[in-house]
Amino acid sequence: MISDALDRPLRNLRLSVTDRCNLRCEYCMPEDDYQWLPREDLLHFEEISSLVDLFVAEGVDRIRLTGGEPLLRRDLPKLMAMVAAKPGVNDLAMTTNGILLADQIDALAAAGLRRITVSLDTLRADRFKALTRSDELPRVHEGMQAAKRVFPGRFKIDTVVIKGVNDDELADLIEYGKSVGAEVRFIEYMDVGGATKWSWDHVLSRAEIVALLSKRYGAVTPIVEHSSAPADRYRLPDGTVFGIISSTTQPFCSRCDRSRLTADGMWYLCLYAATGLDLRAALRGGVNSDQIAAMIRGAWMARDDRGAEQRLALGERRAFVPIKALKKDPHLEMHTRGG
Ligand code: SF4
Repeated sequence: MISDALDRPLRNLRLSVTDRCNLRCEYCMPEDDYQWLPREDLLHFEEISSLVDLFVAEGVDRIRLTGGEPLLRRDLPKLMAMVAAKPGVNDLAMTTNGILLADQIDALAAAGLRRITVSLDTLRADRFKALTRSDELPRVHEGMQAAKRVFPGRFKIDTVVIKGVNDDELADLIEYGKSVGAEVRFIEYMDVGGATKWSWDHVLSRAEIVALLSKRYGAVTPIVEHSSAPADRYRLPDGTVFGIISSTTQPFCSRCDRSRLTADGMWYLCLYAATGLDLRAALRGGVNSDQIAAMIRGAWMARDDRGAEQRLALGERRAFVPIKALKKDPHLEMHTRGG
């Protein structure tokens, strides 16, 4: 296994399979239209599979399929099966908004998907519509029920918490999580990519989340764990476990072992990295596998990214990428990088 310049191993790969999404969440894709990745640039499944082989050979053993919305990619179970069949892959997960999940979950599980995370920021229909510009909340609930049936104990709900928007629903979401057998993880609002409306005023910190939930449930106990997982986990007095991903106020860059491959084959070593490594160009340009493996090794070993920590150190800050720049380069968007 290789390590980067800050002694962090290369283990987690987030594999974005499309930059398209069927929602338009305010904090991720607030615009009506986007500059999409050209269709011909999207990696074919065989290309993704050969890159995954190279990553696995360098130490990656955990893979998460992301988007955009990954379920929009046609024949996704086929790719899932190709990745699941690789002996070095110990964990295969997916993050989805849940709208298309009920229809596809059985095929995905049969293909080898082991864990699932469904994003849901609100339980209120009117709020869901305002936040996502979609009426599909009932289908998300169907997806949640399907996940409850197919992935008991291996199912999480991710909620981006935005002060003044959904911070009055934390307990409701915990109760909802209990009802579908999912562990809820609250994510601090981050100033990444398409979050052009981000401001500190809308960040509810980990400390504030814990305080809010303590008020409602009583003592919230931190669970001591040594893992590279982004969420810190807590237990409520009734035993319910939930997580907080405090990427904004208490970043976890020092233990970050994850990188991101976009649907068109750009490899980003940090969510905040300005540039990535063009593995599609290498693959299609006839560079052989050994050379691509050497590119991957060289880039990771030189990696010293600490994007979220550096953003925090800035103090007063704005959205990471100005809207004009976002419009010119889809790779700067969080939905292209897989969040
Ligand atoms: S900001 Fe970059 S280095 Fe820090 S946790 Fe996120 S991806 Fe990892």
